[in-house]
Amino acid sequence: MTKTTNTNSLDKVQEYLTAECFNKLFIGGQFVDPIDGQKMPTYYPATGEVFHEVPKGNANDIKAAIHAAEAAWLDGTWANMPAATRGDLISRMAQGIEENIAVLAAIEAADVGKPFRQSALVLGGAANEGKYWGSLGKVLDTEQDTPVNSGGGVGGLPPAEWDVVYRRDPIGIVGLISAWNYPLNVAFRKVAPALVAGNCAILKPSEIAGLSCMFLGKLAKDVGIPKGVFSVVTGGRETGAALVASPSVSMVSFTGSSLTGTKIMEASAPKLSQVALELGGKSAMVVFEDTNLERAVEATIKGCLTNGGQICTAHTRLIVQEGIKDHLLKKLKTVLEKIPYCRDPITERERGDRAWETGMTDVIQPVVSASQHKKIMDFLEEAKAKGIEIYTGGRVPNPADVENAGGYFIQPTILTNVPRDSDAWQKEIFGPVLSVRSFSSEADAIAEANSTAFGLASTVMSSDPAKAMRVANRIRAGAVFATSTGEGLLAEHPAVSRGGFGCSGVGRELGIGGLHEYTELKSVNYSGFSIAEAKENSSHG
Ligand code: NAD
Repeated sequence: MTKTTNTNSLDKVQEYLTAECFNKLFIGGQFVDPIDGQKMPTYYPATGEVFHEVPKGNANDIKAAIHAAEAAWLDGTWANMPAATRGDLISRMAQGIEENIAVLAAIEAADVGKPFRQSALVLGGAANEGKYWGSLGKVLDTEQDTPVNSGGGVGGLPPAEWDVVYRRDPIGIVGLISAWNYPLNVAFRKVAPALVAGNCAILKPSEIAGLSCMFLGKLAKDVGIPKGVFSVVTGGRETGAALVASPSVSMVSFTGSSLTGTKIMEASAPKLSQVALELGGKSAMVVFEDTNLERAVEATIKGCLTNGGQICTAHTRLIVQEGIKDHLLKKLKTVLEKIPYCRDPITERERGDRAWETGMTDVIQPVVSASQHKKIMDFLEEAKAKGIEIYTGGRVPNPADVENAGGYFIQPTILTNVPRDSDAWQKEIFGPVLSVRSFSSEADAIAEANSTAFGLASTVMSSDPAKAMRVANRIRAGAVFATSTGEGLLAEHPAVSRGGFGCSGVGRELGIGGLHEYTELKSVNYSGFSIAEAKENSSHG
């Protein structure tokens, strides 16, 4: 491993990373080396230097994790346990995240280039969410053996003499494949409900930034999740593909790009196994001319720059009413050109993206990797070549403006004169790039908002509540914000389901529906004896 500079902040993170969980796979309740002994480097986006090497699991390691999961599934202890008990263990894992936020936030700052302050804030969200999933264990128990006849009779009832009940069974062995942009949050949002529901789960974190996810193996061990019920296998795309292809894996829950989502669906089709896909987006920020301009500036910046634009719900398409377009763009440019670059994300304890709290974005972070940096810069070159105007940004920053020239920084960029059928309007860039179009009528605004294949999130800003509601109701996206102020933009709550229309995904996360995604609904019809008798006898037996 080579280290090109000696950064004290990275030294501290490297000290944390000496712990076993950051250097081994977690399979069958043990920390183990990958069978082939391979490793893969991980880079600090603010400087471009390698700061750790992660075990690189391959198809054989996936096989080992599947064997362990099969044994745990056959044993049945986990699936038969009350969901409330499983929920308590998940809540304890969440508690473990909360108790280690400072360490995990430093690790994510180094891995993703996300300012420490923001990492810590977001990880606090993961801990809260974990407690929510834990609390749903009890709810799942109350849903077991619910008489179908108690359902209110919507659309008809089975004959009164039928003793038929609904159950929600775990699916079996589930593969969980996660993205790098909010590493632990994305992973735990899968691990927690999958386990509360009674499944055995194998997590394959992103190879780009997945260090904090490895900590989940340690937490599972610490709280006493039975061996084989949960494994963590780090590795590349082929490792994920091996997990998806296994005939023993009955469901894959995936968060990542739409392109990979199609591959996962394709690989799952021959075995007709289930998929839950949380994919990319190209969210719209629709601004009517009756919106307070200062608020519109704030919300637009928050929408497109949170996490450096590397968030699935990034509002990267500004759709502004013609009358205020020039004025709004001028104001956006002035603010964007003043936001400083992050110096050392690991130590940024005061600054950091405050979007989740106050709506302010007060620092520009690097993008996550050299390849992502190149992809975005190539994209901007191609846009320029096609006649799209760079209104501001479009380059790497002046070296004097950043601490380290090796960092993966890009100027926040606004593209204007963007045709509807261009890549700048249609494709997810996943960086600090905003594409702009304008509209005249309400109908135009809706058509512009719905003019891509994605449908993850969108916002309509207006001081007219009825108009905002009309437009919000016509937008094809899984989460829509209708607002005069921009407050609450991008906000999530564990009890509020979300997911994608179109190319943004299949299925829904969060809320009770998010837990149900990891279950199969089953009816059991009793005759000759009642379910009450069956229960009575099982309590005697
Ligand atoms: P990616 O699709 O490149 O990779 C995601 C994961 O899939 C990684 O762990 C990777 O190793 C694995 N993978 C890649 N090819 C695979 C294959 N053929 N079979 C199985 N696994 C495979 O995505 P990324 O670059 O890590 O993440 C960024 C993307 O994630 C963006 O598109 C973003 O919008 C999306 N995202 C969506 C949400 C959401 O909730 N909708 C949340 C976060 C990120």
